[in-house]
Amino acid sequence: MEPVVGIDLGTTNSEVAYIIDGNATVLENNDRGILPSCVGVDESGNVLVGAPALNQAVAAPERTVMSVKRRMGSDEKIRMGDTEYMPQEISAFILKALKARAENQLGRPVNRAVITVPAYFTDAQRQATREAGEIAGLEVARIINEPTAAALAYESQRKEGQRILVYDLGGGTFDVSIVRIEEGVVEVLSSTGDNQLGGDDFDGRIVDLLVEHCRDEYALKLSPENDPTAYARLKRAAEAAKKTLSSAPYANIEEDHIGRKKLRDIHLSYELSRPVFEDLIRDDLDRTMESVNRALKDASLLPSAIDKIILVGGSTRIPLISKLLEEKFGQLPHSEIDPDLCVAIGAAIQGGREMGIDAAGLLLDVTPYTFGTSALGEVNGEPCMTMFVPLIRRNTKLPTARTEAFYTVYDDQEAVDVKVFQGENPDALDNIQIGRYNFELSRQPQGSVVTLHFDLDVNGILKIEAVEKATGKKLNATIENALSRFSDEEMAASRDRVQAMWGAGEAEGTAGTVEPPAGAPPDVTEMLKRAESLLDEASPEDRDEMVNLMEDITDAARSGDMEEARKRMAELEEILFYVG
Ligand code: AMP
Repeated sequence: MEPVVGIDLGTTNSEVAYIIDGNATVLENNDRGILPSCVGVDESGNVLVGAPALNQAVAAPERTVMSVKRRMGSDEKIRMGDTEYMPQEISAFILKALKARAENQLGRPVNRAVITVPAYFTDAQRQATREAGEIAGLEVARIINEPTAAALAYESQRKEGQRILVYDLGGGTFDVSIVRIEEGVVEVLSSTGDNQLGGDDFDGRIVDLLVEHCRDEYALKLSPENDPTAYARLKRAAEAAKKTLSSAPYANIEEDHIGRKKLRDIHLSYELSRPVFEDLIRDDLDRTMESVNRALKDASLLPSAIDKIILVGGSTRIPLISKLLEEKFGQLPHSEIDPDLCVAIGAAIQGGREMGIDAAGLLLDVTPYTFGTSALGEVNGEPCMTMFVPLIRRNTKLPTARTEAFYTVYDDQEAVDVKVFQGENPDALDNIQIGRYNFELSRQPQGSVVTLHFDLDVNGILKIEAVEKATGKKLNATIENALSRFSDEEMAASRDRVQAMWGAGEAEGTAGTVEPPAGAPPDVTEMLKRAESLLDEASPEDRDEMVNLMEDITDAARSGDMEEARKRMAELEEILFYVG
């Protein structure tokens, strides 16, 4: 059967995928699935596509073309070297490179393709895409919308209807679409966005900050005009720092010999924190959320009508995006299929259909649980000693790693109690504690940073590293079986079992004392014991308050009202914190 490949012809990057052994697979060249959508000619007039073209972009802009997708459908001629080209012709070079890659990998000729385009593309833009395919020697079996492809990548096998919001933020464009998928058929209900907003703008905001820093710290004025090479280096460093901040709380930007001042070499050294970066891009992200509102309005839907949110495009790895969407929709967005490859995978599934193959859903290793720690914070607007801080979210593709920063609460703090929880509840005490470690500190001022790093692999091994930032002092620990805890069913069965035992314990309870009730969950027993051991150290007022709370907790636990018990436990924890 003649193969039909799926192609994501993107503004910044392009990919080609094909159904192999029933699974949509992105075809790689030298371990890279992504082909930069960049075309150029070298000094001798040879055509370059992808990374080699991108590499010469700064040095030879007159011989290099980027972001041709923005010009598809126009009659505008594009100069590359000595020759002028139509946008379709430039796109055809990219398609030809992808066709060659597919033929290489599959070992047979590839003449047919499904190509994706943004949902907002006009007929003229779609036609130009078709023509680009033909120029490249590809019969375009079908043009499909990018959000349609993303929905297919996630939901091609699902029978019942689903309304899906596709949030697609790439290097230079933002699109948001709402699609309905039923029995594998996708309908676009609404689509909007901003074709001048993306990761490049975020890089630009970091570059502006670095330029300002160079001016203030070293009296060095950098601009694209007076020093294009230094400026290009800043851009590259800014993008790398931005990517680091998607999984770490800080990024160090080090660029030696960035300029010269008074016969002195200037070395740039700057630490960018995630909060500062988030401030820089907050307005841009608010604009994307306005588009999300518009898409909902155009589809006449309330946020609660959305069944699933899918993240597409490299820039959606920025954690603040998931946070904003979760706040609005009350559900975690999905990104378990690589956001850079999701559209190509969906295009390959459609390509498979053109060949009569119904590709199975993707086999992915994802974590079924959220893993995090506890810290001082707020839950439901109330101060909470045990706020759950997720580091690795449910449904994240494995292996994965995340680092977060925490701050000491008082001067000369001797230690932090690093607790590791598995669960989804905002109060960590309602989740399952799977590890606890005492990390001794070296008595720094209040607000000193301790970073916590979680690294979870496909075998469920969770590695934990805490680092005192000022000194580099470390704590390392490993939890061998973080994934093989309770399934939902097991959790429900355990809850029932504990509840049943609870009834038996109740009869034996010794009302009126602060003895832990028989069969009480271990955290209740542990807290009551801890409180008791601290009674002598407490002031008379605190002691009264502690005893009252201990009695309340015992009563609530005995009557099976765990919600009340945990509320009182949080209050007690707050007093114990200060007493201890
Ligand atoms: P795309 O056009 O979908 O290929 O997206 C490319 C954009 O995603 C570029 O601006 C990249 O810098 C950005 N990007 C890729 N990886 C990350 C990451 N880990 N965190 C933030 N942005 C990223």
